[in-house]
Amino acid sequence: MKRLTVKEIFALEPDGRSITVKGWIRTKRETKAAVFLELNDGSRMGNLQCVFGEAEAAANSGEIARAGTGASVSVTGSLVASPAAGQKLELRAESVSVIGEAPAETYPLQKKAHSLEFLREIAHLRPRTNTFGAVARVRNRMAFAVHQFFQGRGFQYIHTPLITASDAEGAGAMFQVTTLDLARIASSGQEPDYSKDFFGKPAYLTVSGQLNVETYCEALGSVYTFGPTFRAENSNTSRHLSEFWMIEPEVAFADIGDNMDLAEDFLKHLVTVALEDCAEDLEFFDKRIQPGLLESLRKVISSPFTRMSYTDAVKELEKSPGSFEFKPYWGCDLQSEHEKFLTEKVAGGPVIVTDYPKEIKSFYMKVNEDGKTVRAMDVLVPRFGEIIGGSEREEGLEVLLGRIRDLGLREQDYWWYLDLRRYGTTPHSGFGLGFERLMLYVTGMTNIRDVIPFPRAPKLADF
Ligand code: ATP
Ligand code: MN
Repeated sequence: MKRLTVKEIFALEPDGRSITVKGWIRTKRETKAAVFLELNDGSRMGNLQCVFGEAEAAANSGEIARAGTGASVSVTGSLVASPAAGQKLELRAESVSVIGEAPAETYPLQKKAHSLEFLREIAHLRPRTNTFGAVARVRNRMAFAVHQFFQGRGFQYIHTPLITASDAEGAGAMFQVTTLDLARIASSGQEPDYSKDFFGKPAYLTVSGQLNVETYCEALGSVYTFGPTFRAENSNTSRHLSEFWMIEPEVAFADIGDNMDLAEDFLKHLVTVALEDCAEDLEFFDKRIQPGLLESLRKVISSPFTRMSYTDAVKELEKSPGSFEFKPYWGCDLQSEHEKFLTEKVAGGPVIVTDYPKEIKSFYMKVNEDGKTVRAMDVLVPRFGEIIGGSEREEGLEVLLGRIRDLGLREQDYWWYLDLRRYGTTPHSGFGLGFERLMLYVTGMTNIRDVIPFPRAPKLADF
């Protein structure tokens, strides 16, 4: 008989039809009169309860004995209405066969609740828990929603490279990529000869696809990239990974106002999809992980984001100097504690902060008339702060060259990027959304290592 998933089964009526379901046992409960197997197959959060009456339990006693927590099984029976509260269906089981046992003495995921820290150490088994199954399903839906959003607006999806031979991206410390024999070089005491390296020069893993995607923006108009990025910063926080996924749209003829509107629409679209299509998983997160999550997400889609300049944001922060470890002042980079204060205490929701001092932002951001600030826009959210960073880009060749020189960067490293300003330059804007930060936002999970299947962080590259 064809296997039906638990999700498919819960779309059926309890009409007594005969079905086969395959999955993993979450729990087994045995009474005098019946045996209950809770079966989960990952297609949805909820289990299918398989109930063996006395006669069926006796007929299947050998297999039932082997069907402990974690075992994979195939169960056949008839689909009936459930008398138990909280579930509309159950399987009146006739036969069960164990496909793969999971010996209780060694299987790490027994019935009790496990800490997220412990589950990180068994990242290969954690998708079998409610929490990580839900994270995986939401992550899948959000990735699809990203493409739906941009494709629906006529954006072209551009694949930017992961290996880059320019260290000009400037967004953070880079991982070097080399085929040179490091042990030999070290023992020789000589400097590495990069002309002998794979690419004939030093190469790195990308920290952002932005500079590359801008080239396609200046030809196709509205583009985005969605791929892995790598940062070698030694930041051991609950919101930084060494390998994370980033979505970077870039739009020609768009200014910072258009950019803010796009970012706000984008986040609201993603939250709306999560609430609609991942309702069962989000209810779990609301109940077990982050009380109030659903209410705050619903509020996000129904109210406009607060917008304020960096200068006004610093004024707000200066009103409460006692609230911070790091004292805020005009010119300082906003710390996570400041970002949280602005969203949680000042705005009560997401905030878009614009026009940061040019000293703390990247060389490519458009300089304002005041000569002191740039058209940067960061979207901040309650709980962890920055979720999006973006800007209107400097489109003037001379201003951009001036910025590159002032910062001590080498003009020749940017020759092709500068060509975009030499030939047919346009105003344009874009931003980067960290996909795992989005995942923290919609699931209410608190550690970024728990919203990516296999986290990479300093001293952490297992699995
Ligand atoms: P932060 O100040 O939080 O370290 P950033 O300003 O260095 O971030 P950007 O260079 O602006 O980050 O990158 C764009 C987006 O990528 C950020 O808004 C964030 O969502 C995400 N991001 C940046 N660094 C990381 C990281 N190490 N791990 C996960 N996501 C990240
Ligand atoms: Mn940023």
